[in-house]
Amino acid sequence: MVHAMTDRIEQLVIVGGGTAGWLAACVMAARRPELAVTLVEAPDIPTIGVGEGSWPTLRETLRTIGIAEEDFLRECDGSFKQGSRFDGWTTGEDGDSYLHPFTPPPLASSVRDMIALLAGWREVAPDAPFAVAMTPQAVACARDLAPRQRAMPGFAGALNYGYHLDAGKFANLLKRHATTRLRVRHISDRVAGVIGTPEKIEALDLAQTGRLNGHFFIDCSGSRAIVIGGHMGAGWIDRSDVSLNDSALAVQVPVPTESPIASQTIGTAHEAGWLWDIALPRRRGIGCVYSSKFLADDRAEAILRDYIGAAVPDADLASLSPRKLSFATGYRGQFWKGNCLAVGQSAGFIEPLEASAIVMVELSLKALADNFPATEATLAIHADRFNALFRYRWERIVDFLKLHYVLSRRSEPYWLAQRDPAVVPQRLADQLALWREQPPSAWDFPQVDEVFSAASQQYVLYGMGFPVPEPAGEGATQQALSRLAEVRERSRALAAALPTNRSYIDALTNPPADAAAHGELARS
Ligand SMILES: Cc1cc2nc3c(=O)[nH]c(=O)nc-3n(C[C@H](O)[C@H](O)[C@H](O)COP(=O)(O)OP(=O)(O)OC[C@H]3O[C@@H](n4cnc5c(N)ncnc54)[C@H](O)[C@@H]3O)c2cc1C
Repeated sequence: MVHAMTDRIEQLVIVGGGTAGWLAACVMAARRPELAVTLVEAPDIPTIGVGEGSWPTLRETLRTIGIAEEDFLRECDGSFKQGSRFDGWTTGEDGDSYLHPFTPPPLASSVRDMIALLAGWREVAPDAPFAVAMTPQAVACARDLAPRQRAMPGFAGALNYGYHLDAGKFANLLKRHATTRLRVRHISDRVAGVIGTPEKIEALDLAQTGRLNGHFFIDCSGSRAIVIGGHMGAGWIDRSDVSLNDSALAVQVPVPTESPIASQTIGTAHEAGWLWDIALPRRRGIGCVYSSKFLADDRAEAILRDYIGAAVPDADLASLSPRKLSFATGYRGQFWKGNCLAVGQSAGFIEPLEASAIVMVELSLKALADNFPATEATLAIHADRFNALFRYRWERIVDFLKLHYVLSRRSEPYWLAQRDPAVVPQRLADQLALWREQPPSAWDFPQVDEVFSAASQQYVLYGMGFPVPEPAGEGATQQALSRLAEVRERSRALAAALPTNRSYIDALTNPPADAAAHGELARS
């Protein structure tokens, strides 16, 4: 049919030049070279500029778009992230701490296997934290070790890992890569209007340069959501009923160049929220997340300053001026409507507790690049599929973040409000009932690319002292005991073999003169 020839989707327009926009440009240009990709960003509207913790998925994304790991680490002041540590969440007492590492427990091929593994932990090392018993990553995190040696091929690890990064530098690297290596056209201009109907965009109206035509549009305009919300009118599903935090104070604290670099994001609970602490080679990104209903801004700032005073003793507190961010909690009723898809903050945001924003950008782009509509004829079919999948994913994030609060035994009013049964999603309440009898498994999380796998649920549950299900018959099997022994053995071996984060990063950024001369840098 002539029609099918004329409505091919060939021109892709991305609105917004934050992390989401430039990742979209790089991924789509790399994976769909047949498309003409244009990115338009307003020079006078700043990016959000936070978002410094990634997931392991970013390794695959960087590889896909053709950025070498060493270049990324150097240019974004990057370091390795091997998970998150949660301090003070269960009771708030001294020593209250657990780890949610990226490396899963030893493979349990059935629920019964996992019960045997839990029984083995209880039998052999009842005093060891769950994460220590289940993965050598706990030792690497405790000792500030890198997850890999430099001689390994880029993106390979002895342990699973993501990154901590400088968000501004990351967006700049992606922009340079997109425009110089991937043929993305960049327009610095403000979108003043959208031409078309709420079902089909014909073009954007740019303030300086006028009309910009396109066949498909990705809205990466951040919380403004100017296209998907403003023009297309896709609604917003508010989840602030469940996820109570709505504010953050963020600051960057310079650190001495010889200071250790932590292997994990540290999330420390306080009276009405929590603090994040992300270690980069030359600074720590520290922030206080809270609910404005339970905490005044000046009290939040005092909590932030107290934390920095204790965590970074050399910090010049007087020179720090934290930046206030307020955020809406929820996601779009439709992420994909007509010929427009929302990616990034325009699609939704739930507090940054497990750093799930960049990974949702990556998952959205993976879904789009794998399923890009060739013609307008299939737009609605793709939209329905995408919307159903991502509604599921956003709800799983809501549930998983809530799990961290529901298991707490802290008694301040904020913490009691967080675990009020009226604000616990029914699916989570049902799962908690189930998990008293059997541990989380793939039966609970059956989708491809679940955002938070059964392993993640286990680390939080057993890290926070949730009761381990009683084995029905025998306790630990021989197989379970030998898997746990392997973890102990590998913990010893890796502790001896892996460099510290600091020595790894220093060698990367300041190679000894003779190493550079002998071409060491070429090895990635
Ligand atoms: C406190 C906090 C902590 C966070 N921590 C993490 C974390 O650890 N890990 C993580 O993954 N995520 C985190 N996030 C989320 C993360 O920062 C964002 O999801 C991510 O940066 C993507 O933002 P964005 O690109 O969608 O939007 P933005 O960065 O806001 O970019 C929006 C872009 O749209 C452009 N724009 C807007 N209007 C127009 C217009 N009219 N015309 C043209 N261009 C326009 C702007 O110029 C800008 O370039 C955090 C968020 C918050 C609030």
